Amino acid sequence: MPIRLLSSEVSSQIAAGEVVERPASVVKELTENALDAGAKNISISIVDAGRTLIEIADDGHGIPSDELELAAARHATSKLTQSEDLFHITTLGFRGEALASIGSVSRMSITSRVASAKEGARLKVDGGVSGKVERVGAPVGTVLRVENLFYNVPARLKFLKADVTERRAIDSLITRYALAYPNVRFKVTDGKQSTLQTSGDGDRRSILAALYGVDVAKQMLEVMAQEDGISLTGFISPTSLTRSNRKEITFFVNGRWVQEFSLTTALLQAYHTLLMVGRYPLTTLFLEIAPEDVDVNVHPTKAEVRFKSQDKVFSFVQRSARKALMAYTPVASVSPQMWGSRSGSTERREVGIDWSIGHSSDQLTVDGGQFSNAEETVNGQRSTINPSFLPVPLLRLIGQIGSTYIVAEGPDGLYLVDQHAAHERVLFEKLMAQHDKKNIPSQSLLAPEIVTLPPQSAKMLVSQLPFLNHFGFEVEEFGSNTFQVRAMPVLFAGGDPSFALRALVEDFEEDEAPLQTEIEAKLAARVCKRLAVKGGQTLTSEEQRQLLNDLEACNSPRTCPHGRPTMIHLSVDTLERQFGRKGAR
Ligand code: ADP
Ligand code: MG
Repeated sequence: MPIRLLSSEVSSQIAAGEVVERPASVVKELTENALDAGAKNISISIVDAGRTLIEIADDGHGIPSDELELAAARHATSKLTQSEDLFHITTLGFRGEALASIGSVSRMSITSRVASAKEGARLKVDGGVSGKVERVGAPVGTVLRVENLFYNVPARLKFLKADVTERRAIDSLITRYALAYPNVRFKVTDGKQSTLQTSGDGDRRSILAALYGVDVAKQMLEVMAQEDGISLTGFISPTSLTRSNRKEITFFVNGRWVQEFSLTTALLQAYHTLLMVGRYPLTTLFLEIAPEDVDVNVHPTKAEVRFKSQDKVFSFVQRSARKALMAYTPVASVSPQMWGSRSGSTERREVGIDWSIGHSSDQLTVDGGQFSNAEETVNGQRSTINPSFLPVPLLRLIGQIGSTYIVAEGPDGLYLVDQHAAHERVLFEKLMAQHDKKNIPSQSLLAPEIVTLPPQSAKMLVSQLPFLNHFGFEVEEFGSNTFQVRAMPVLFAGGDPSFALRALVEDFEEDEAPLQTEIEAKLAARVCKRLAVKGGQTLTSEEQRQLLNDLEACNSPRTCPHGRPTMIHLSVDTLERQFGRKGAR
């Protein structure tokens, strides 16, 4: 084929591929435009997860009617005139591409009016083809309506995920912008009912509640730090509040949501040794820095930025987060080496004593002496076994320490049992056993409990309701984002129903296909974790003994359902060596 210049329609569709990947990207661009226009009120309607309609109305300064056509053209912006401007950008937009891109892959209309005009004007763009500007009555501000997104790019449509997933991406985006701009009132509807509304009164914590629910919002720690013209504000979770992935780590730089690896790394360093392996904090942090010290023009959707002094920003974020954590968090009580290392031999080097710890996920090399009572281990020879399936011997209760660990004696030495992890394991195996028999006894609550969840979680939960009934929970929808719990499994009698519901939705990965058996087990494990006794809870001797008995009856007594150890064991042999009764002499 000969070389040809592409038609403007084709080239804008290609450009659109970069900017408009999914409905949430449209919402992002339009919200940013409204914010750049100085809007104080932003109303967003989303129908069918944005496939049918995305409409964003703002009360910003509007677009003059004679500039409407330009606004929809490529490389047309009011935010930048010369290339030097790129190095002190104070607006969210500057590339002049969003409206052109969106217009090329949807049926778009822009209705706008500036304060000095008597009436407004409207321009329709259909698959990149602009109509004529018409005069219409309109309030000051702009309404951007995007219908039938990707109707002319079927390939894009195929890449969209399920509506719940796309909708969740939109909700989580808007809630984060609402958090970043607490003085702007955001209102979101799905065409029928309101799904989010913020007051615009500047109070971030109440928006945090909309994002994570009241329980979580209450626990979040506030960060407020300033140094050398850089400031960091926002919220980070205490070490007790974590997720299994990094998706809840949010950073804004100068009001712009970025996915910046170096910032995330700095944050995780602040938590270093305070979190268990594979757990991540929840954060929404806002970094403000002089515009000339950050390059925002390094990524098509502006999701990444470069700092002039990367090291300075890194260390500032790391220290500020660490300081906030230290101010609130009691001294870490876990020995990180013990939790973190994955093999028996490194354990020994770091800890210095022969504590053996049961991990499930890895094969652990154990020498015969340590688990001498276990038949699997053999004749004093080293062998490789999966220790989580090792039974525990009959244990004699000695007592509880720190209201967190149970100390017990077995024929082969001393056992320290983590009461929370152990209880998780016990609940989990009981629940799964009942589930296998298709008989989970359930018990009605005296007073049904009403639980309100943030919109994304509520949607998630609705899709889990059949699962819940399966597991002996009687839960029904009870208004917008609200549920009524009428019964719980007998096994969890006395547990907090709202904990159970939240556990089901909080760690749920995007795009996880719901409800195959292994996912049921995973969800069950989450509920058990939430409802198990906690560390720091004093147990009666009877309760301690019961827990040990129940644990002895488990199939995998040495780890919790998430794979962490329930116990550590100090063998008689080790004791003797440590006290110099054996070997040394
Ligand atoms: P950019 O935001 O990068 O300038 P866009 O394509 O998003 O590019 O928008 C083009 C121009 O249209 C903007 O520079 C701005 O002047 C105008 N515009 C877009 N949306 C709005 C809005 N909601 N209110 C006022 N002006 C807007
Ligand atoms: Mg823009």
